[in-house]
Amino acid sequence: MKVHLAQIPQGETLHLEGEEDAAPLELEAAGATPTSPLEYSVDVGLSEGGLFATGRLAVRVRMTCVSCLEPFEQEIVSEEFALQMELPGSELVDLTPEVREDIHLLLPPHPRCDRGGDKTCPAHFPTGAATSPMPMEAKARPAIWQALDQLKTPPSDGSP
Ligand SMILES: [Zn+2]
Repeated sequence: MKVHLAQIPQGETLHLEGEEDAAPLELEAAGATPTSPLEYSVDVGLSEGGLFATGRLAVRVRMTCVSCLEPFEQEIVSEEFALQMELPGSELVDLTPEVREDIHLLLPPHPRCDRGGDKTCPAHFPTGAATSPMPMEAKARPAIWQALDQLKTPPSDGSP
């Protein structure tokens, strides 16, 4: 995604909207295969010595579910994409590195096919199995220690 600074009107923002090849996002390196172009709708403006952009990014990717190991598709959406950068020397500014970083941060580290809520993962594990009951010994221990203490108590009478 490239911006011609000369196209940004003075004191206003330039609206950029469209699609472009998702390959430069290098999503494959993160285990996600883009199945759509990158859609963008951003407003770009100039502030004191810098460039800012805000808007929405979206790209559809195919990932592999960590649970059932089946491929599934999900749309990665950045509803509040925002960047601010210092102006580089050139008139044509490439926003791709910032866009790439933003999308990568939105990729789930452990993708699950049921994350979207419209599908049930076939490899569904029961929840709550991790809560193990407290062992019996732990609860019984204080009573045992009390009994031991009583045994150790020397008799208070009978000595000459
Ligand atoms: Zn799954």
